[in-house]
Amino acid sequence: MGEFFRPENRDALVSALSRRHWRYLAGGTDYYPSIVGKTETSDILDLTAVAELRGISEDTAYWRIGATTSWSEIRDYNFPPFFDGLRLAAKEVGGMQIQASGTIGGNICNASPAADGVTALLALDAEVEILGPQGIRVLPIDQFVIGNRRTALKEAEIVYGIRIPKPAGDSAFGYFKKLGSRRYLVISLVMVSAVLCLTKDRKITDVRITVGACSEVACRLFQLEKALAGASIDENLEDAVKAEHLAILSPIDDVRASAEYRLQAAQSMLRDMLSEWGQYE
Ligand SMILES: Cc1cc2nc3c(=O)[nH]c(=O)nc-3n(C[C@H](O)[C@H](O)[C@H](O)COP(=O)(O)OP(=O)(O)OC[C@H]3O[C@@H](n4cnc5c(N)ncnc54)[C@H](O)[C@@H]3O)c2cc1C
Repeated sequence: MGEFFRPENRDALVSALSRRHWRYLAGGTDYYPSIVGKTETSDILDLTAVAELRGISEDTAYWRIGATTSWSEIRDYNFPPFFDGLRLAAKEVGGMQIQASGTIGGNICNASPAADGVTALLALDAEVEILGPQGIRVLPIDQFVIGNRRTALKEAEIVYGIRIPKPAGDSAFGYFKKLGSRRYLVISLVMVSAVLCLTKDRKITDVRITVGACSEVACRLFQLEKALAGASIDENLEDAVKAEHLAILSPIDDVRASAEYRLQAAQSMLRDMLSEWGQYE
């Protein structure tokens, strides 16, 4: 290994970013498996001691989650029901040890097509705060994760935090479900997440539906969202899901599942989700 540095505040972090090319380290749950059997020669910048990078806060317009906030902190935080999708995703990232070390920033920077956090954050319309020597810039999550293991981060930039705009409407709910080849500790074959905003008389004012692990990057199903706008959740909504709403997906065939299986599973998970909405109080 080259140099190892663990800055203890934002100023020290920013000055280190400008100093040289680093490999960043947060919880290490993606990083350490990636160096097994290799000789690591990179200089490592450990992000975990910078207080501004960690924790959950709220102002009038946004919730903010610092990049090195762990999945267990998100899982256990007293969020409103709007965050149920992200909280359920946090509960399903690996087991307890992975949730205690793994961070939300590491998940989106690793940018795996099967990253549970990306699918849930896309439904929340999240924005990514990026810190570099020039200060902070903000990108919507769909412009941040741009491909399989590819992000919009430039040289000397890190993810600083994630902003989640507060929902409009009388009540808002979140949803997340993942399908794997066994119940626990799985890499997702398909993930479905959503945010649903309702009027007092249970009509849909805003809905965002995302599917993960069925394309290079998680996708929003805009056509399905359009078909549901204005509907009451007490209608028989599951029949609203049509094959053409999933045309945007491009799942792969691999050892874990065929593309056809993934598509069928996504359709049936979406139908189950819409039927569950009728039970929301
Ligand atoms: C056994 C096991 C089970 C797992 N199960 C799941 C699962 O079910 N679902 C799932 O989605 N993932 C899973 N993962 C993957 C991993 O735990 C998550 O992606 C986790 O959120 C990564 O966070 P981390 O802090 O450990 O990232 P790290 O390993 O520290 O970093 C990951 C990558 O992101 C970069 N990075 C980290 N933080 C930043 C930052 N703030 N700015 C810029 N770059 C940064 C690092 O340089 C590295 O390239 C699993 C991993 C293991 C080992």
